[in-house]
Amino acid sequence: MTTTKQDPIIYRNLIGGEWVEGEELLPVYHKYTGEVIGYVTKASKQVVHDAVSNAYETFKTKKLTTQQRYEILMRAAEIFKERKEELALTIVHEAGKVLKDARAEIDRGIQTFVASAEEAKRICGKGVPIQGQPGEDNKMAFTIRVPVGVVGAITPFNFPFNLTAHKIAPAIAAGNTVVLKPAEVTPIIHMKLVEILMEAGLPGGFVNVVNGLGKETGQYLLEEELVAMYSFTGSAPVGRHIKSTTGIRRVVLELGNNSPNIVHYDVKDLKRAAKLCVTKGYGNSGQACISVQRIYVHEDIYDEFVKEAIEITKTIKVGNPELPDTDVGPMISEQAAIRAENWIKEAKEAGAKVVYGGTREGAILHPTVLTDVTPNMKVVCEEIFAPVISIIKYSDIEDAFKQANHSNLGLQAGIFTSDLNLAMRAAQELEFGGVIINNVSTYRADIMPYGGVKDSGLGKEGPKYAIEDMTEEKIVVIDLE
Ligand code: NAD
Repeated sequence: MTTTKQDPIIYRNLIGGEWVEGEELLPVYHKYTGEVIGYVTKASKQVVHDAVSNAYETFKTKKLTTQQRYEILMRAAEIFKERKEELALTIVHEAGKVLKDARAEIDRGIQTFVASAEEAKRICGKGVPIQGQPGEDNKMAFTIRVPVGVVGAITPFNFPFNLTAHKIAPAIAAGNTVVLKPAEVTPIIHMKLVEILMEAGLPGGFVNVVNGLGKETGQYLLEEELVAMYSFTGSAPVGRHIKSTTGIRRVVLELGNNSPNIVHYDVKDLKRAAKLCVTKGYGNSGQACISVQRIYVHEDIYDEFVKEAIEITKTIKVGNPELPDTDVGPMISEQAAIRAENWIKEAKEAGAKVVYGGTREGAILHPTVLTDVTPNMKVVCEEIFAPVISIIKYSDIEDAFKQANHSNLGLQAGIFTSDLNLAMRAAQELEFGGVIINNVSTYRADIMPYGGVKDSGLGKEGPKYAIEDMTEEKIVVIDLE
């Protein structure tokens, strides 16, 4: 194991608080200018093994008290606050996220740390009334929650700070150790997060980091038997692969979606609904798992809604993500933008209308409004993950529910209606992990339980819920002999 001083632009792997060389340098690109802004060193199989062994050894031999865990997480949150602008700019550069959204992401990540610190103090089991069973009157039972051990955290590029916070902070709060495999296209913000955690007092070995590609470094991590649990956020195909290769070990999978949003004729404020649907369809260039993608609008208000959506889209500022008023920047790569552009072309050839946008310059795909789409077009039935919305007319709400559910994905859905009964029916009928009423599918408060059904995943995030998954509920029985 080679230990070197951390270079400001070469990010190495982290094991037991020491920076460790990997096999080769992987460049990290500025997503708007294309220049190289840093490097990570790719972790070999041996480095991944060492990182897991060290995390396991740390878990077995070193313990932080609840108060220490609380204080470290709170101190990290304070440092994030102090360095907010620098951290936001890191996201702007390596993810192409626009500045205002990058700042918002840092704010959310801070809250995720604070909420996790608070939850650390609330971890407890519950009483089990076994004396209620015939013949068990002389027994008492209760559960305790114990940490699972080493958590393997694998993260995506699109919210590289807050989604990493959603894994590391609850894992530390629960008393686990972590081996983190950052998204390879946005590793720098991950490294800064972990460096700050150490500055906040987290001793070496509690979070180790292995950098590299998913199919190599990520795969090596999946093969490490000492990892007790994997917490993964990313695409459904990779999620399925992780589930099928990790045997009986615990997995939490936060995967994709093609979020439907229903706007009923009795919507209280059509302009507000249109603005929310449109802007949350384009936020982060549509690269959010709960981005608005399919908008089902009642026929009575359809024409007005489409007109409004076009007008709002015209006002969206597209371009350099570093400028404070830019709304939509580049996608993660030109290749990703070309893929979405091709889906738009395919839909057009099959009869869809591009009523606004549809053009591309490099990695920038201009916000696009589609109408006249059909259920089997990719722009409707798959996750587009680009700033593209499809507006679909319905006449019968039952049909809107049916179309919204016509997907193998089920993370979150939204409905706008003034009818309380209809809203409650939507909550029951829509087959999703979350139903948002009078706001869009994109709504997420970081403390709420968050996770999908069907191919959108398994298990929940949100500090309290993540901690439940990251701890074992152990039964204790006392025989009052
Ligand atoms: P991705 O699945 O391509 O990659 C995610 C992570 O998995 C990366 O770190 C990658 O290196 C790693 N990986 C890839 N192949 C692997 C393998 N074989 N073994 C182990 N690790 C592997 O996803 P992405 O493109 O970074 O992110 C976009 C996807 O994430 C979208 O589908 C989006 O909906 C989803 N997402 C879901 C949520 C949620 O909370 N449900 C949040 C954000 C993003």
